[in-house]
Amino acid sequence: MAISYISTRGAAPELSFSDALLTGLAVDGGLYCPDEVPTLGELDAGAPYAEIASAVMWPYVEGSIAREAFDDAVQGAYATFRHPDVVPLIQIEDNHYLLDLAKGPTLAFKDIALQLVGRLLDHELSARSEQVTVLGATSGDTGSAAIEALQNRANVKAVILHPEGRVSDVQRRQMTTVDAPNIRNVAIDGTFDDCQDLVKAAFNDEALRAEFGLAAVNSINWARVMAQIVYYVTTTLRLGGPVSFSVPTGNFGNVLSASYAKRMGAPIEQLIVASNRNDVLTRFFETGSLSAQSVEPSLSPSMDIQVSSNFERALWEASGRDGTATTELLQEFRATGDVPVDAEWVEQLRSQFDAGRLDDDATLAEIARVKEESGVVIDPHTAVGVHVGRRLRRDPSVPLVTLATADPAKFPDAVEKATGERPPLPGFLSELHERTEHYVTAGNSLDAVANQLRSF
Ligand SMILES: *Cc1c(COP(=O)(O)O)cnc(C)c1O
Repeated sequence: MAISYISTRGAAPELSFSDALLTGLAVDGGLYCPDEVPTLGELDAGAPYAEIASAVMWPYVEGSIAREAFDDAVQGAYATFRHPDVVPLIQIEDNHYLLDLAKGPTLAFKDIALQLVGRLLDHELSARSEQVTVLGATSGDTGSAAIEALQNRANVKAVILHPEGRVSDVQRRQMTTVDAPNIRNVAIDGTFDDCQDLVKAAFNDEALRAEFGLAAVNSINWARVMAQIVYYVTTTLRLGGPVSFSVPTGNFGNVLSASYAKRMGAPIEQLIVASNRNDVLTRFFETGSLSAQSVEPSLSPSMDIQVSSNFERALWEASGRDGTATTELLQEFRATGDVPVDAEWVEQLRSQFDAGRLDDDATLAEIARVKEESGVVIDPHTAVGVHVGRRLRRDPSVPLVTLATADPAKFPDAVEKATGERPPLPGFLSELHERTEHYVTAGNSLDAVANQLRSF
């Protein structure tokens, strides 16, 4: 029986994988989740990444796409990575490794999911003879990874919103220097949460959604969560036993994928959620309440988030898949910005995740420490994960793997401040600062976004 997809708010139609892929946010405002979590089959630890990836993901997509077409999409996606292991493991200290997720075309872990999603989307649209406009919000890395994955694809246009002045120079240029007729970059006068709200508002506006055939590839799309499950599985296979992971976290997509890997049977000992000063998740695990604060810019901008959209999936599971209770909780959070969460749900979540924060000064100190002790240069997001992971790991005899979510060259100012040396961009991006930028600016309103869609 094919897995079907149900909304966390309990009031949207059940969909197949390919319909959930095209739909993104459910019509009731919820996020699609698989109705059943498959168990991992027999896997060969020595097989190439793409082969294991196909095997791990297949049960989620079976019934929606032919196996051969799926395998081709997976092969194509991971052939774009600049390392034979796709996600190499690097030891930085005794029993502590980095999993380098930044070997893709835009130097951040978003490529792992989006290179696949772009291919699956194009495949599905051409099978249906349909076209869509992808509307996405980015705190920096999603946008460039989406643009890289979608540029020049026949059946997709993409409009990507980023918060003006709140993404790094390299991040912005990776988006705006792509010169493809199907891509439009929009700089919004607001924060990333504002951009994310605008995207949600557009999807909740059925007229707008129908007029432009809107589709989403931001981390609310199940296919992205699915693609990220794979590297947790391959890492436990490679290390040959239980592993703990520390995950630099923003929208809770990456670490949510880890929890699915664990439910599928991967031997995962501990999951550590690492946040920067924008610590809504850490405060939730400490207090049992969801409380929003304003977003403060930090050295790790891809984690500058106060509403972690994928946390809804974890809350819904913790509620025993109670769509009504999940809807009430999130509506109250929207309205008041501060809600206590049912004690049983909190217990459930605390049994799965530990959480901690790190401020900017300590992040710089951590980059310097890791370089001095291991010779490895890490980016500020990774540094948050490394530090919080060391602090919160319970059993030092279990290998700790911190996810290295970006290449240090993406955040050269912070890295130079910490180490005294400016990390060079890889050769294929060395001309990034000479290329012409293409973007438009717009106000923080749904009307302004609708105008951008209309004029594109
Ligand atoms: C997106 C991103 C994160 C946060 O990942 P989530 O899945 O949103 O929790 C962390 N680090 C980097 C470099 C990112 O691009």
